[in-house]
Amino acid sequence: MTEPAPSRIDDACDSANRRVHVITYGCQMNVYDSRRIVQVLGAQGWVETGDPAMADLVLVNSCSVRDRPEQKILGTLSRLLPLKEAHPGVRFGVCGCVAQQHGQALLDKVPYIDLVFGPDRIADLPAILAATEDGRRESRTTLDAPSDYSFLDVDPSVEPGPTAFLTIMKGCDRFCAYCIVPYVRGRQVSKAADRVLAEVQSLVAGGVREVTLLGQNVNAYGKDRPGEPDFPSLLSRIAAVPGLDRLRFVTSHPADADDRMLDSFGALPVLAESLHLPVQSGSDTVLARMRRGYTAAQYLERLARVRRACPDIALSTDFIVGFPGETDAEFDATLRLVETARFDSMFSFKYSPRPGTLAARTIDDVPEALKAQRLARLQAVQDRITIQRMARYLGREEEVLIEGPSRDTRSGGRGKAILEMQGRTRTNLTVNLPADIPIREARGRLARVRIDEVLVHSLRGTVLAWEAA
Ligand code: SF4
Repeated sequence: MTEPAPSRIDDACDSANRRVHVITYGCQMNVYDSRRIVQVLGAQGWVETGDPAMADLVLVNSCSVRDRPEQKILGTLSRLLPLKEAHPGVRFGVCGCVAQQHGQALLDKVPYIDLVFGPDRIADLPAILAATEDGRRESRTTLDAPSDYSFLDVDPSVEPGPTAFLTIMKGCDRFCAYCIVPYVRGRQVSKAADRVLAEVQSLVAGGVREVTLLGQNVNAYGKDRPGEPDFPSLLSRIAAVPGLDRLRFVTSHPADADDRMLDSFGALPVLAESLHLPVQSGSDTVLARMRRGYTAAQYLERLARVRRACPDIALSTDFIVGFPGETDAEFDATLRLVETARFDSMFSFKYSPRPGTLAARTIDDVPEALKAQRLARLQAVQDRITIQRMARYLGREEEVLIEGPSRDTRSGGRGKAILEMQGRTRTNLTVNLPADIPIREARGRLARVRIDEVLVHSLRGTVLAWEAA
């Protein structure tokens, strides 16, 4: 094996550490995987940099759920290409779902990509880097079989603040007609409950106060491990971990949201009052074509159940408009469901086929202009409801977990900037507030906050009291 190519950082900064810059697209699973990448490389002496111009390795962790994912990655990397041209030792890599899907074809097509690896191959990254040090290029995208899939343990020191994601399962067995996930992430595999608990304990010991459990179909947890706790039982066990203040999970499938899971919101004080439950359509016939496994009435009954358990819960959802064959009447059923459900927020998208899925074999027959029109109508209805739902926060006192500095500062007059900090309510809303103590002292603490202003998707408030340091 040859010596590593001298890196620009080594030349310029005389640093023993090589640096990685990770750009993450997509869901929280990808955010989590990016932390694991930093963790795996950290064990090899690499450090993370937020500046691609300082990096020896630029990785794009990609998502194939949305439209034109490949173009997005190539657009990002081509903008950074001058860095690579100026410093040939710099390597470009693609990981995540697009990498898994296209593998070697991505290397064949794009000459400036040096390495491609799938989500199951993160632990191989040191070997992949060793194999590409002499200018060779490498693609590794083998999916582990469920029986020998091995999760990477989370290292609390890699978590950036008082909140952390924790993957408890990967893959999906549901095969919704439009979704690429089961093909690129594989069949469902759950992490052993004892291991999940040990990781939560380790995160809490490391200073994490809020844990979000992750899985493509998180509430199907345990269905592949007969004899192990199911998802509601796992929630109960995690809720008993001393020192954990808040527990969340994402993303849930309505057909796997049983009564015990929904009732947990009333029974477990640590379970924060927010639930993302993607519905995708309000039409029974579209839901059947999507192979979602529930009707609109069954979905609404799930919402009613969780609201009985936890009346103040914030509910969010996902919609796809313009699914093949969607008629005006079917779209109207979606609008009716939104009016009935009164979600706090939603994510909504125009349908576009993902090659390899069942729906991609059907003609994408709803014209783009009609999809756009339906999307705008749907979002207008939800925007009105969101404003109405947000109004309830005005003047309320909320428990806010401070996460760090706000993205922007406010003017305090005479050109003086007031430093702002940012936190989240238990209902998962962002709150911006003046920093009345140094932000490094506030970070990771809970505050009693009065809400003074309600914005479209966030709140502004004033600290009334801090928890004891
Ligand atoms: S449950 Fe979610 S991840 Fe699984 S196939 Fe359906 S949409 Fe995709």
